[in-house]
Amino acid sequence: MAEKTVDLRSDTVTLPGREMREAMAQAIVGDDVFGGDPTVKQLEEEAAALTGKEAALFVPSGTMGNLIAVLTHTTRGDAVLLDPEAHIFYYEAGGSSLVGGVQLWPVENLHSPEGIRSFNKAIRPSDQHFAPATLLCLENTHNRKGGTVLKPGEQELLYQAAKSSGLSVHLDGARIFNAAAAENCAVTDFTRSCDSIMFCLSKGLGAPVGSILAGSSPFINSARRYRKILGGGMRQSGILAAAGREALKHIPHLPDDHRRALKLAEGISQLPNFEVTPFPPPTNIIILNTEALALSSPELVNRLLPFGIEAIPFGENLVRMVTHRDISDDEIDYTLDVFTKISKGLS
Ligand SMILES: *Cc1c(COP(=O)(O)O)cnc(C)c1O
Repeated sequence: MAEKTVDLRSDTVTLPGREMREAMAQAIVGDDVFGGDPTVKQLEEEAAALTGKEAALFVPSGTMGNLIAVLTHTTRGDAVLLDPEAHIFYYEAGGSSLVGGVQLWPVENLHSPEGIRSFNKAIRPSDQHFAPATLLCLENTHNRKGGTVLKPGEQELLYQAAKSSGLSVHLDGARIFNAAAAENCAVTDFTRSCDSIMFCLSKGLGAPVGSILAGSSPFINSARRYRKILGGGMRQSGILAAAGREALKHIPHLPDDHRRALKLAEGISQLPNFEVTPFPPPTNIIILNTEALALSSPELVNRLLPFGIEAIPFGENLVRMVTHRDISDDEIDYTLDVFTKISKGLS
């Protein structure tokens, strides 16, 4: 067994530290389904202000936040346009189709500088043969595309195009603060180009549980009912919201995660046949292509494990590693040493 573990599987693996646990222990709570939890209210107000939206809703997970958004924006039989690699399409167990009765309509290359061309091609006229498209879902940063950022100008173009075709726009902004850190801009530069946004408190920001859905007041009123329908109405959830409020304080430190991801990617890509794609990593996600190593992704993951380094296969020849608030500079150095050792063993 390795003495050390460096868990790079996801930025969801962070553990609540002492300050966060103290904030949870001291939270003033009440029954939030009756509207009586002051800590949840504070978090929702802070989140609304931060995203520049009228209102916000604390939800148990990002997946539920996205599903509530789809349910609130659409009716059964509608079509929802999104990138085929979008989390909502790829990783949410088909929930929008199962629960929302919508047709998820994948649009290739939506999340790219040419996204606007793909969108315009995907928009079809009103016709009895077609499910009417009423919602566009964007994702920023894009998980499966290696934490890439859709720039504020690109997102705005898509937003304007969607609005002029009568579609609402939901932003899956699980890591929207990473996008803002990478672009060195305000998070509102992204959130102004959407009708609703979901972001995760439980990823790089370090909360144990929870996400936020934000939008207009009528949208959030309706979303609150869908949260209840899905079983997401929680009682003394101020204990969790207190952790969420602590997590928001971590936003200014996200550039450290990006700096560490860059250092790791630079070191790895100097080793023979190790390819990081995209390079440099735009945010905190590093994708390794193992093809030139003649290793499958599970094979590379298994070679890292005896050294206590955890990563995940992200496709046949892709391995994902994510930096987060529980990864230190020393752990990046250690990980690079291990990659160097493995590389020597391969040559
Ligand atoms: C993690 C993630 C989600 C879902 O969040 P959970 O809290 O894990 O349900 C949604 N979208 C993206 C892009 C994600 O990375």
